[in-house]
Amino acid sequence: MLELPEVINIARQLRENVQGKRISYVLPPTKAHKFCWFAGAPEEYDTALRDNIIQHAEGFGIFVEMFFDNGKRICFNDGVNVRLVSKGKEPKDYQLLIGFHDETALVFTVAMYGSIILHDGDYNNEYYIKSKSAISPFSSEFAPYYRKMLVDSKPNLSVKAFLATEQRFPGIGNGVLQDILLEAHLHPKRKIGTLSNTEQDKLLSCAISVLRNMIDKGGRDTEKDIFGLPGGYQTKLSRSALVSGCVQCGESIVKEKYMGGTIYFCPTCQETPDTQQR
Ligand SMILES: [Zn+2]
Repeated sequence: MLELPEVINIARQLRENVQGKRISYVLPPTKAHKFCWFAGAPEEYDTALRDNIIQHAEGFGIFVEMFFDNGKRICFNDGVNVRLVSKGKEPKDYQLLIGFHDETALVFTVAMYGSIILHDGDYNNEYYIKSKSAISPFSSEFAPYYRKMLVDSKPNLSVKAFLATEQRFPGIGNGVLQDILLEAHLHPKRKIGTLSNTEQDKLLSCAISVLRNMIDKGGRDTEKDIFGLPGGYQTKLSRSALVSGCVQCGESIVKEKYMGGTIYFCPTCQETPDTQQR
């Protein structure tokens, strides 16, 4: 799933590679996907977009949004894969295809679920609105916002739940979370009410620095860009780390199910909450 580093990089790649292209045609899904959502009928996207030019693209939270010169926009979220391909290289099945006059196309596919929404800037969806209005981790407003969230949230919330649920921090999900917590030396199940001031500060600075590093390297190696290439950021806590061990201490990484997702942690660098002295 795309998280903040990937949506920012995909938007940048779209600006660099498709901005200025004129749309020749838009094709609806080759076959229906039960969990792919559109605004209205995807067959109507062609009429709305044909002959228009992509003016801009932005990434925020869990969304990428493209702007067209007739005022229309398409936003898509974290479960949607987009690829730029040459004519003849299109996959057999897709959920939407935007063909350009220069014989290239943007192809949208969905694995588990996703939304590809055509709108006029008025998309009224909770996740979209929260992503759009999210405070960037790289803005000066982020630290005060983070501290306010710590105070406003229940003390028995785990750091994983605090960072990656309820859209407090759109774009920080179960993926980027893992390396942020390793860097901060915090176990995913650690309760936020037990964090010392130093640990609160460390978590904040690690969230910012890990996200920055992931963005600078073109996203995580577990996700792909618009050319189908993996990001250059080598994830420290993901499936591959189960084989290689902890990059910080060499210990074997532990994998567990927690809160409807998989967590990875290093039992040495990220002490389990019940063994901690406080
Ligand atoms: Zn370790």
